[in-house]
Amino acid sequence: RLEVQNLVRRFDGQTVVDDVSLTIPAGQVTCLLGPSGCGKSTTLRMIAGVDMQDRGRILVDGRLICDTVFRIPPERRSIGLMFQDFALFPHLSVAENIAFGLTRGDAAQARRVDALLERVSLSGFGPKYPHELSGGEQQRVALARALAPNPRILLMDEPFSGLDERLRDGIRDDTLALLKEEGTAVLLVTHEPHEAMRMADEIALMRRGRVVQRGAPYNIYNAPVDREAAAFFSDIN
Ligand code: ATP
Ligand code: MG
Repeated sequence: RLEVQNLVRRFDGQTVVDDVSLTIPAGQVTCLLGPSGCGKSTTLRMIAGVDMQDRGRILVDGRLICDTVFRIPPERRSIGLMFQDFALFPHLSVAENIAFGLTRGDAAQARRVDALLERVSLSGFGPKYPHELSGGEQQRVALARALAPNPRILLMDEPFSGLDERLRDGIRDDTLALLKEEGTAVLLVTHEPHEAMRMADEIALMRRGRVVQRGAPYNIYNAPVDREAAAFFSDIN
């Protein structure tokens, strides 16, 4: 369970994230949806611990991980990360990429890697290198790597935008099924209403640094908070 309370981030006197609060229970996918530049990635970076907020606090399973004076480092937050470009290490094999965040080199680790490869339907791909894989396969390796340490929370920043459009919906569905099995709380950033509608249990609609509406996809689509929100959803494909 992830709780974000009243996060504020300013750059050069400009408020980029303005009093953002979110709650994501275990097993639920929340999509942070909004146009380019509205502050989605900045919000994610603060939760991950690679940027620091000017105000507000963040809790994981009720435990404070960060406020403006106290700060648990990123690697001890039980938060997994997955980015748009997958960011696989090119010089490491698939198995080594997945094992990267795990404690090193025992038989249990090898079993965990094999189990994860099977979960993402890539059994036998362990010795291959990232450049030998298709985009969809790389995406699955990145997902397996993010899930390897069993994080309580998974943060995903536009994780499908680099993929062939014709394959995207299939990959979205497969990813969602796996995340539901794992029971991880997921915060997924996207600027595509279609993606949020397809994947979210809850959508948090963001605009100019603020969350302007939160709710089930169906409710937000049918009862947008204002004209701007309605327009944003109107070009859904
Ligand atoms: P996109 O959909 O294009 O990825 P986003 O919603 O993720 O957009 P952010 O990357 O969070 O947007 O950026 C929000 C705003 O904050 C932008 O105007 C950006 O220029 C500004 N910003 C982000 N990081 C910094 C920084 N380190 N220094 C100054 N300004 C920044
Ligand atoms: Mg972004």
